[in-house]
Amino acid sequence: MVMLGRQGAGKGTQCVRLSRHYVVPHISTGDMLRAAVREGTELGLKAAELMAAGSLVPDDIMIGIVDDRLDCDDTTERGYILDGFPRTVDQAEALADITAARPLDVVVDLDVAKEVVLERLAGRRVCSDCAANYSLDKPPRYGWVCDNCGGDVVQREDDTPAAIEKRLSDYETKTAPLIAWYRERGLLEVVDGYGTADEVTARLLAAIDQRRR
Ligand code: AMP
Repeated sequence: MVMLGRQGAGKGTQCVRLSRHYVVPHISTGDMLRAAVREGTELGLKAAELMAAGSLVPDDIMIGIVDDRLDCDDTTERGYILDGFPRTVDQAEALADITAARPLDVVVDLDVAKEVVLERLAGRRVCSDCAANYSLDKPPRYGWVCDNCGGDVVQREDDTPAAIEKRLSDYETKTAPLIAWYRERGLLEVVDGYGTADEVTARLLAAIDQRRR
């Protein structure tokens, strides 16, 4: 499946939960890029500046990364959850080609209004090691140390006001058109992203299970 939605809609947290529930890999292009930046690979060097500014990484690079990742054996048996890709119609078209032999089962749009995600993004904190999500309202148990792995919990470099504004405006112009694109292809489920994480997970499971039946 593919998870769409504005940045800060809670996609990451929900994708981790879904990947545990269905026992499938969670493939987050943002996490893959952040790992490349940390490791200082060629891709990381190219992506770092764009990401810090809240800009999208070029389509050809992103399509190459996802094509390689979906070639790995762990995606072929039980499927996968794609988080953060596609973000443009060109990426969606490429994904349709990449998955031609095993088409997507469902695309979920996690729906949360722009005003709400702006507030969430400003308060968001993440573990710099395992990418677990926290917030000013829901911090880790001890200081800013990750409950899962003991890593440092920090504000993402691209959660500055200017980068947030850029990401949300790119979302409206480049990513939001995918909602109609997938609806036309009969793949879209819109799920209300308001409420507690448990409430949203329950709605997601209901929508996805109904599709898979
Ligand atoms: P995310 O963690 O999904 O919010 O992604 C963080 C950043 O990585 C984005 O703001 C983009 O700079 C970059 N990125 C992740 N996925 C994509 C994609 N599919 N296309 C272009 N850029 C991406």
